[in-house]
Amino acid sequence: MKSNVVKNGIVFAMFVIGILYVLIYFFVPKLNIEKNKITINVNEDYQNINYSASVIGKDVTDKVKVDGVVDTSHVGTYRITYELKESIFDIKKVVEVKVVDNVPPELKLYGQEEYKVCSVDSFEDEGYSAVDNYDGDLTDKVEVKKYDSSIDYIVKDSSNNETKKTRNIIIDDEVAPSIKLKGNEKVYVTLNSEYKEEGATASDNCDGDITNNIQIEGSIDVNNEGTYTLTYIVKDSKGNESSVKREVVVQKEQVVADKNNKNTNGVIYLTFDDGPGGYTNTILDVLKKYDVKATFFVTLAGSDDVIKREYDEGHTVALHTATHKYEIYTSVDTYFADLNKVAKRVKDITGIDSKYVRFPGGSSNTISRRYSSGIMTKLAKEVQERGYKYYDWNVDVNDAGKCAYVSNRQYCVLSNFKSGIYPNRSNVVLMHDIKSYTASALEDMIKYGKSKGFTFKAIDDNTPTCHHGIHN
Ligand code: ZN
Repeated sequence: MKSNVVKNGIVFAMFVIGILYVLIYFFVPKLNIEKNKITINVNEDYQNINYSASVIGKDVTDKVKVDGVVDTSHVGTYRITYELKESIFDIKKVVEVKVVDNVPPELKLYGQEEYKVCSVDSFEDEGYSAVDNYDGDLTDKVEVKKYDSSIDYIVKDSSNNETKKTRNIIIDDEVAPSIKLKGNEKVYVTLNSEYKEEGATASDNCDGDITNNIQIEGSIDVNNEGTYTLTYIVKDSKGNESSVKREVVVQKEQVVADKNNKNTNGVIYLTFDDGPGGYTNTILDVLKKYDVKATFFVTLAGSDDVIKREYDEGHTVALHTATHKYEIYTSVDTYFADLNKVAKRVKDITGIDSKYVRFPGGSSNTISRRYSSGIMTKLAKEVQERGYKYYDWNVDVNDAGKCAYVSNRQYCVLSNFKSGIYPNRSNVVLMHDIKSYTASALEDMIKYGKSKGFTFKAIDDNTPTCHHGIHN
């Protein structure tokens, strides 16, 4: 019996719970929210989630209190509370709103995407910039990683969004080295004497100074007369090659007998090219002081008065060129068209037809090959057929060459003069009256020459020829 009572009690209790459940179901207010979690991008519009509320089938949505703020301009997690109070009930629901930054920074590389350089280390970066929608300027945060053939640029924003860009670096040296001769392109060596190699220098855009890599091809036999060519070749580490050449003329000492000269100690013919110039009057003053006559191979430069003075003071006014441009070697006609202009000038000033000529660059010049092959051979013959005599030189004071690049130019000119003149021959000395240091050295040259017993003369009809070998 007792057990039946318990059974009935349980059944009754269950009945009561069922009734209560039904009552609660009907009488407890209902709050429905579409979602309980949403994610939006930073700076995107946020709109409240749809929701509704009801009690016993009656709509009470307008009684729901929404609380909380979403700051869409800041990354973070926000909570919005929805609350409905109805009679004894208080119902709360929370929606989680995540504001996120999913946009990677913008990374700009200045310059090119691909470079050809000697090495990654020699690459000079043209720069970059990085801007993020959320963090702003991130240029300082860009990480630069150098590899053998590329450079990576990586930037991350505060939300770990990453942007990566790459420049390709091609290690290449397409530029040939530069090579320069030390000393002259053309060197004269007296037969059976010593040839002194002055060498060359070379540098490369990638390898720097590569003078030590220079190889010299060709050889010189100082015991045999002739023109020898030396080729100086240099290669950079990528095999780009450059070369220069030097001509070495081995010749007998240019001793030319001067039949009319009783002085066995030799004659010096001072010759000045390219004037009249700014120093011609100074030179004329010095010549006058020592009673020395010289020869001026003039151009169209300078003033007529200076040429008049040269002539009046007993010097030889000779013909160099009107323009001093190597284009004159284009043809026989272009050469004489130029020569005739300077000849006319001299004739107009002095009244004489000058018969003495000096070719720009000398008769041995090879630059003329660029304008006409064989032109010097033709001109040497042609000038003589037209009644001129041409004079090269056998002493070069180098005032237009090497001496222009040393610190003591005057000393350079003087020492070249001293070492260049030889006794018992005609010394034809090449100088330029457009060089101040030549004018300054002149007095010492004359004193030295006189002290050694030389006679100074101007070129005249008795002057022995002084010709270089012709190489074009
Ligand atoms: Zn000249």
